[in-house]
Amino acid sequence: MVKQVICVLFAASLLIFLPVAASGNLSDNPETWCEDENFYEIIAAMEAAGIYAHFLEENSQRYEDYHAEYPDIAFDRVIAFVNVNVDKENYSDIQPVPDPEKITLLVNKQFSLPVDWSPSDLVSIDNDVNVREEVAFYFELMKTTMSEEGLSIYAINAYRSYSAQKDVYDRGVERWFGAPDIADQQYARAGHSEHQAGLAIDVLQSQGLPSMWDAAFEETSQYEWLKENAHRYGFIFRYPRGYSQYTGYNIEPWHWRYIGVEAATRMYEMNMMPFEEYYGRFLVPGVLENVRAYIQEQQELFRATQAEAEPEPPRVTTETPPPAAPNSDVEPEPAAADRTLSRILIIMGILVVGIPAVIIITKVINKRKA
Ligand SMILES: [Zn+2]
Repeated sequence: MVKQVICVLFAASLLIFLPVAASGNLSDNPETWCEDENFYEIIAAMEAAGIYAHFLEENSQRYEDYHAEYPDIAFDRVIAFVNVNVDKENYSDIQPVPDPEKITLLVNKQFSLPVDWSPSDLVSIDNDVNVREEVAFYFELMKTTMSEEGLSIYAINAYRSYSAQKDVYDRGVERWFGAPDIADQQYARAGHSEHQAGLAIDVLQSQGLPSMWDAAFEETSQYEWLKENAHRYGFIFRYPRGYSQYTGYNIEPWHWRYIGVEAATRMYEMNMMPFEEYYGRFLVPGVLENVRAYIQEQQELFRATQAEAEPEPPRVTTETPPPAAPNSDVEPEPAAADRTLSRILIIMGILVVGIPAVIIITKVINKRKA
């Protein structure tokens, strides 16, 4: 509960001090860190301290093996790719997509969507193709901006059901004379397409162009614009040239995937490709646990340092008398030393005033007698 309150307060303060937060400053006090709000900053702090947040103990041997096979790939990227099973043969050890509802889900030749799964919030866009509501909103926004700059763009394909994807793949195999090896480079098998997730759109510069125009899209100003600006609307270039080792596909300049503005912008700013790397770094189960463990460790360290630095509080002893209760009718007992002092003062007073008085009185009586 306390932690939630702190998180909410911190989130509110982020809104006020967004420019500071955007610059990636992490507070010096780990007590204020939140695994959600400061997720990426904490990961950066961990890396600065020589810890990879995405290093998962159970994969350590596979990291070594993949790194030995591809020594040119930096080790932090090796970790990310192995985390999403890039080191395994395509379609050899298929895992279910953990949460098909998530905008940032990863579906590829290693991860599959359930047979009967389709998004519940599909809406139609250009030429009557469907995407999820959020995707439609940002696509329309992007399209409007592009048209203001004199660039036209149309959604040619979007959502495809499991069975529709099966038809596409089967036709692809037929086209390549029953050779799945070649078909697999171009078509996703059923359950393995981003189109089933309702998060992908194939775009072209005009409607009604035959599919042979797909590759030519790479030569258009629309494509250049998308590469520089699509992230502002949550879209990423999903299958860039030179990344088929990780994505399983050759370049597809027409295929744009929605992952949300925040993630897409982060990928753009980190100059990170492909999405497999982003997912393997930040989104695989286990990374969040590592971040949480690091926060806890830093908080404990911080508390220990604080305790050492603070001065000792004054010691309470039994010799100190308890303070008098306010408005009490009972006079406090004077201390023994005080009582002795007052007796001495009374005796001295009697001696100082009394002796001269006796002398004066005696003299007056003697005068009268005389
Ligand atoms: Zn596509």
